[in-house]
Amino acid sequence: MERRRIRLNGIVQGVGFRPFVYQLATELDLSGFVRNDAHGLLIEVQGPTKRLDEFHTRLLKQRPVLARIDRHRSTTLNVQKPNPFTIRPSLRDRKAVTGILPDVAVCPLCLQEMSDPLDRRFHYPFINCTHCGPRYTIIRSLPYDRSNTSMAVFPLCPQCRQEYESPKNRRFHAQPNACPVCGPRLTLCAADGRPIHAEPLFPFIWQQLQQGAILAVRGIGGFHLCADAHNSVAVQTLRLRKGREEKPLAIMVRDRQTVERHCRLDEAENELLFSAARPIVLLQKKEDSDLAYEIAPGNRCLGVMMPYAPLHHLFLSGPLDSLI
Ligand SMILES: [Zn+2]
Ligand SMILES: [Zn+2]
Repeated sequence: MERRRIRLNGIVQGVGFRPFVYQLATELDLSGFVRNDAHGLLIEVQGPTKRLDEFHTRLLKQRPVLARIDRHRSTTLNVQKPNPFTIRPSLRDRKAVTGILPDVAVCPLCLQEMSDPLDRRFHYPFINCTHCGPRYTIIRSLPYDRSNTSMAVFPLCPQCRQEYESPKNRRFHAQPNACPVCGPRLTLCAADGRPIHAEPLFPFIWQQLQQGAILAVRGIGGFHLCADAHNSVAVQTLRLRKGREEKPLAIMVRDRQTVERHCRLDEAENELLFSAARPIVLLQKKEDSDLAYEIAPGNRCLGVMMPYAPLHHLFLSGPLDSLI
């Protein structure tokens, strides 16, 4: 029997590390705890030496995909009375030095739930889980816990709380966990600020965009103006309002198929387009693309990006496959 303290530094908070450690320790029948603190992740595990070695190897090898371990240290402690493995509340410290993850593009499982009419998060634009969703933009202070994020004002409903507290659930300790009952909501307003009550909301938005409306999407960093990329009049109007006469605009498209209809795409460009940072990639426009000429007048290239927030996917899941 042995007890070890393992300290991990790097990007180890907000990536599902605590649930992962919990599951691994429970599977190997080890006792101890895991907690976030201002320096990263602190683990204490106790059990037979052979299983502790296995724990350590798998900890580093099978770590959550989004995690980055810069340093790990292990020390031996005195053996204590064994108790079931737990996730302990985080320790606060004035000098926070741990890494923070940027926001993460919505994952395939969340996308699937969001498009299932029977799911309780159907068309819910703030869906997220342990492996995706906002991180950097909602963190107010460290360690990364719900109480230190802008989600603190949305108390979890019983169902969300249950997900948050169940080790087997994919939202176990997902700090921004939310649903239409307890989480943030989307409001649609007319140009004069008057709320528009449309039910269901997204088909109404798609219809408006198809008719040439310009939508101002309020995000954390400001407003993002969008319109149907096939609609010349809408694109021209948006240019006028932005005071941007000729500078090329970027487009966001539904999927790879749509990209290939309008642009030439090689494997390297494709990889870049779908990489975690979801950058705008400059691609060569095809001659026969039917996108509005006004997007990038006189330009042979087109700035293209893939959707990353659930809301982008919702905008593009109806009749429109390209937006500016
Ligand atoms: Zn997800
Ligand atoms: Zn909820």
